[in-house]
Amino acid sequence: MRVQALTCSAPTLGVLASVIALSGACASAGPVSPAAGPAPVRLEAARPSVLVQRDGDNWTADFTLDRDAPVWAFIRSEVVEGTRRPWRLEQWRVTTPGVVLDRINDHDVLRATDGGPVPRRVRIALHPRSVDLEAGYGSLAFTTGAVALPSMQFDLFPTTLDRVRRLPGDLNGVDLGAETPRVVWRDRAGPVLLDGGRVTEAVTQDRTAYVLFGQVETLEASDMVVMMDPALPSWIGRQVGSFAPQVGAYYARRLGPGQTDHPTVMISWRGPTERMTSMGGSVVPGVIVMSFEGSGVVNPTPEMLSVSRWFIGHESAHFWLGQSVRYEFARDMWITEGGADLMAVRALQTIDPAYDARGELQKEIDDCVSLSTGRAVVTASERGEHRAYYACGAVFAMAAEAAQKQRTGGDWFDFLKPLLRQPDGVLSREEWLTALTRVSRDPSLRGDVERLLDRGADDPSAVIARLFQRTGVAFRMEGGRVVLT
Ligand SMILES: [Zn+2]
Repeated sequence: MRVQALTCSAPTLGVLASVIALSGACASAGPVSPAAGPAPVRLEAARPSVLVQRDGDNWTADFTLDRDAPVWAFIRSEVVEGTRRPWRLEQWRVTTPGVVLDRINDHDVLRATDGGPVPRRVRIALHPRSVDLEAGYGSLAFTTGAVALPSMQFDLFPTTLDRVRRLPGDLNGVDLGAETPRVVWRDRAGPVLLDGGRVTEAVTQDRTAYVLFGQVETLEASDMVVMMDPALPSWIGRQVGSFAPQVGAYYARRLGPGQTDHPTVMISWRGPTERMTSMGGSVVPGVIVMSFEGSGVVNPTPEMLSVSRWFIGHESAHFWLGQSVRYEFARDMWITEGGADLMAVRALQTIDPAYDARGELQKEIDDCVSLSTGRAVVTASERGEHRAYYACGAVFAMAAEAAQKQRTGGDWFDFLKPLLRQPDGVLSREEWLTALTRVSRDPSLRGDVERLLDRGADDPSAVIARLFQRTGVAFRMEGGRVVLT
């Protein structure tokens, strides 16, 4: 059975002062912390605010903009997995006259139809639906009517048409020249849930979080909370509740504490759609968000049990690789996604000796070859080929792991552990590649990794074979294909 859309959303942006600092991983962006050093005395910065409110079936977002600007652009403007259409244009409708929601290159924007400044007060009617985004954080809709919205949906900044046309798709590291909004969340029907607690009015600012409106089923355990759709096939909740603590404990044993040791997992169910097997997820501080859909996941077949464990292992890995450290630019997602893949494979192998690790890793190699043939890995997101980050990132991780084994007898976790201690919370490409050279004492390895990252190859199998040969990954060549042995 083919599993579609095993996506993991990606980056999160944390805003530090006015510069976009980072993104995480399927995950992430950590909470924003003040820069080190003496804190300058600062007046509370002016910033926009947003009131997100539900009144029965009516959802509104009232933006109060703190300055005149011809365009307000949203920081995160992902597209829907599959259709590649901007999700906001399908789920949001501006009701303030003279203002439109538009797409300019890679960015969703609000602009005034007459070319003047956007009015200081703009109302948008929201129609939240649960869809998988390409490397993004989507809304979760539950069959109970409950909805969880990510705070990052409302982050926006003032700009101009000219400037937004020249902006890169990835805003990490770009100075946006303004603070992100303070968002207030209210539900006429009762308290909303933020950070595990119910409050009449939630407030988020400079952070990534999910806010839950309405009721779902909740399972409390000593080391985690699972909040799920009551219509979710029951085996999934049981699997998450039993396996996530197990895999989390394994990671903590190998790597030290992650970003949280008491995660909340929110699981939505989109129904038993025929001929579909889909699970998607993402991670924000303290929370894993998952969506399941399709007839293929209704029953706990041995294959589904194995895939779901892998999925839980991958998402949980982001509390270390993605939250404890995050990537610098979205194009470096191979570090967190490929790394989380190999963490999951090694954890599953340890927990269940019958697990087919070699089959999973072979898939990574085959996919990396096909997705880097004649094209760079770092630009995969422009083509909607996010799978390249996972597959090639896992291949590079396998080479690093083998180098570690040659050097110290260790494994992937031993290579990774020192890299998780970054004073700035960012694991950059340079830091990763320098570690590879340090452990292998072979400076030629990074050249081959960078070649696939930046250019791809006519025959990626030959490049991967060289990497594996020098680091000691066991394989043989079969008709030009790298086959693990
Ligand atoms: Zn991921």
